[in-house]
Amino acid sequence: MTRPLVDLQTTPHGGRSLFATQPITRGTNIFACEVPFAHVIYKDYRREVCAQCFAYAASTSRSIGDPRTWSIRSCMRATAETVWFCTDECKVTWESGVIGPLIADVNALLGKAKIATRSQSARDGHDPILPNISTAQITQDYIDEAWVDVENFVSSRTLLSSYCSTMNLEDMELEISRSVASAIVQRYVIDHRLANLTASSVISSSDLWAEVLNLQSSELSNVSLRPYILKAHLRVYAFLCHSLPTHLKTYVPMARIILARDTGNAFGIWDGDSRDEMLGWGLWAGASYFNHSCCPNVEKTRVGRAMHFTTSRSVETGEELCISYIDTNQTITQRRQDLENSWFFKCRCQRCLLEEASLH
Ligand SMILES: [Zn+2]
Ligand SMILES: [Zn+2]
Repeated sequence: MTRPLVDLQTTPHGGRSLFATQPITRGTNIFACEVPFAHVIYKDYRREVCAQCFAYAASTSRSIGDPRTWSIRSCMRATAETVWFCTDECKVTWESGVIGPLIADVNALLGKAKIATRSQSARDGHDPILPNISTAQITQDYIDEAWVDVENFVSSRTLLSSYCSTMNLEDMELEISRSVASAIVQRYVIDHRLANLTASSVISSSDLWAEVLNLQSSELSNVSLRPYILKAHLRVYAFLCHSLPTHLKTYVPMARIILARDTGNAFGIWDGDSRDEMLGWGLWAGASYFNHSCCPNVEKTRVGRAMHFTTSRSVETGEELCISYIDTNQTITQRRQDLENSWFFKCRCQRCLLEEASLH
């Protein structure tokens, strides 16, 4: 057996991280994360993005007719939401899998429930599940209390269904609900051993949920910076409690765990290298093993549903393997701003420290 190229270690600064156990040449595929634990393709792109491999119709010329829409679709079950594919092969792979069709079933339910939540008129007055927030009040206790309150609220079926029938869920809240629901389906499938999931070379599928729990939560930083996020999350939670089928309802409490971790851990699903259009987002659990650097030595590339990590230069034994979370062509000020806004840390990578020193 060959010695693994990388080793997962706990670092004093950034949680766990991968380190090179031997010199690695440029262009080596060091790690792959096979499936996103949670993902969503935005509603506007659903006919244009292959449900199996996420290929974007507008970036190829393979489809005939409307060049922006794939022509192969799944009509496997009447209960499921229709999804589109780039090739027959993708359709066969998707239909023979367990997770894709289960997610399509759940998405159909959420879509119907969303239509039913349309209020006759705009609601005025105080939303019963939403706390009154002023930025100054936001602490962990405050967020915890808001979640306890919403849990109490949804425990009354009458209150919940009358609330949801008039809540007027926003489009983005539905996308967030779909993303959380995909994670719930994933966990249900793992718990019931309905499929043998290949997670990655480092993570076994039985540990996938543990890996999600291990992701860093940015709930407090995120809600402090953007208080409206908490409202959206509480509404998504109530909506899922109301809309999901009984066998999945027991998993709804994991919504808070997913929502607390998607900022800072999720990656956009893009149309291609040019990154013109963001088609949705996904949470690949193992991707968080890579810390950020503004002079990274690893590049991530999405290959179908998988995320591949390849060295972008040669790496020495013991070197930490880092990717960049942001556009590294920006100035140090812009880079730090982006990182603080979405990842809540001040970058102190080698490049930032060097550039900072040259500023003084
Ligand atoms: Zn495809
Ligand atoms: Zn930096």
